[in-house]
Amino acid sequence: MTTDQEQISVDFVRQIVATDIESNKNDGKVITRFPPEPNGYLHIGHAKSICLNFGIAAENQGVCHLRFDDTNPCKEEDEFVQAIKKDIRWLGFDWGEHEYYASDYYQQLYDWALKLINDDKAYVDDLSAEEIRQYRGTLTEPGRESPHRNRCVSENLDLFQRMKAGEFDDGQKVLRAKIDVTSPNINLRDPVIYRILKAHHHRTGDDWCIYPMYDFAHGQSDSIESITHSICTLEFEDHRPLYDWFVESLEIHHPQQIEFARLNINYMVMSKRKMAELVNQKIVNGWDDPRMPTLCGMRRRGYTPKSIIKFCARVGVTKFNSLTDIGLLEHSLREDLNQIAPRAMGVLNPLRVVIENYPEGQTEELDAVNNPQDESMGTRKVPFSRVIYVEQDDFMEDAPRKFFRLSVGREVRLRYAYFITCQSIIKDEKTGKAVELRCTYDPLTRGGDSPDGRKVKGTLHWVSAEHAVDAEVRLYDRLFTDPEPSGGKDDKDYHDYLNPDSLKVLTNCKLEPSLGKAEHGMQFQFERLGYFCVDPDSTADAMVFNRTVALRDSWAKADKAKS
Ligand code: ATP
Ligand code: MG
Repeated sequence: MTTDQEQISVDFVRQIVATDIESNKNDGKVITRFPPEPNGYLHIGHAKSICLNFGIAAENQGVCHLRFDDTNPCKEEDEFVQAIKKDIRWLGFDWGEHEYYASDYYQQLYDWALKLINDDKAYVDDLSAEEIRQYRGTLTEPGRESPHRNRCVSENLDLFQRMKAGEFDDGQKVLRAKIDVTSPNINLRDPVIYRILKAHHHRTGDDWCIYPMYDFAHGQSDSIESITHSICTLEFEDHRPLYDWFVESLEIHHPQQIEFARLNINYMVMSKRKMAELVNQKIVNGWDDPRMPTLCGMRRRGYTPKSIIKFCARVGVTKFNSLTDIGLLEHSLREDLNQIAPRAMGVLNPLRVVIENYPEGQTEELDAVNNPQDESMGTRKVPFSRVIYVEQDDFMEDAPRKFFRLSVGREVRLRYAYFITCQSIIKDEKTGKAVELRCTYDPLTRGGDSPDGRKVKGTLHWVSAEHAVDAEVRLYDRLFTDPEPSGGKDDKDYHDYLNPDSLKVLTNCKLEPSLGKAEHGMQFQFERLGYFCVDPDSTADAMVFNRTVALRDSWAKADKAKS
């Protein structure tokens, strides 16, 4: 059962926000943000964060900013910025005029770094990255002070300004916050806050050769934007004391950080780094490969925004990391597609059937229901003729008693058409495989109804050969065979769990003619087979469909009800 109540379940983050509004904290205002780093495409995990941030803002007459945390010029590109915007819009969320970039705050961040230096709260260090790591200590061992930690303010100011002027090479010097090298929280052991990177930035070009670290930019960016609730994933809990230290030292607005558990789904990898590897190693065909958990991949696969939003609502928001079953995602998808996808008939592995007593050259148009869930979607005409295709699977030569499909002497119903009985088989001489069935039909069963109450258990989908549209159909399955491909079991990594059958391409599919007009992205339920959508590779002359998701339950139930 799905009710609206299910969707608006009040999680702990929403409770905090509600309490803050009640006590008139932040003058009752709610400003959230979604802060992607433009170094890859968004995935279903990001959708959870998007739904949470945009959702909470909308529910409380607040606003949600889109802020690109673009502090790493080496990995970021405008291509990703554009793709991220497209994906958020596709989900149905709107940031209005509130599109921001951490890179817009570079001058402010630099000025704040100067303030820390002036207050003797930051210093320039000459240690190499490796040395800094060694000095930092471990979880069980305190860190050691850098020999440069006690440089005087004026020397630090001079060096930092010369870093900015480009006098030093990458890695030669860094600016570090002066906090506490013995802190039990490693994030507070004098973290690096600025590094030299003589790299071109996708927005600021060559204006800067020093860049703030993510940790020095993120909290302050929230502060600049007057974010009230800075919602992030659990792994940032240990960074919160550092963000607090920055905003308190700088005496600026203090957003409230709230951490929630990130989304993990079984049979998937959910890290941008691994996704980039899948793309770069050509294990998949790009970021929008329909097997990818990216939003662009899911869109191409045939996922709807509604199904993703519903899924995120069902997963809920908690403080505990867990693994969500992919079945829940597919359930949310089927539920939506069941309502909106018109039905159609398509035969993926065709077997030719000749109906011997049907007049040659005759065609008739039969009425088919577009969606039994929604009468307003109406009906369509499906042509029927003497030669049709059925699914190879729907025939068996030596069929067991309970095989309610085609075999010599057995009668089945052709959906919306007639009862037919298989009379004989024509086989390939060499392989012995059935290549054609010879059948007869009962003209009195037009529409698939029996005039004499005769029972037929099997109902098959079919396509008229003469009218069929040829298509390629790509059957997608899980990319991994293990529920936790990144689990790190037995020294294996996710490459060891790739599903060799995650993509099967069928090139000889026969579809009912109404599908010949289907446009990119349109979704259908191919009766008995699953949900399918038109791939962007599809052209009028060479149609390509993707299987979005199989039907869990076939017509078994419907047939039971009928007979
Ligand atoms: P990844 O781990 O895939 O590289 P990321 O955290 O580095 O992701 P960002 O671009 O920094 O990617 O993420 C933007 C926002 O999305 C952050 O607020 C982050 O917390 C959130 N986010 C990322 N992954 C998930 C997830 N699996 N579940 C929920 N929120 C997520
Ligand atoms: Mg991140």
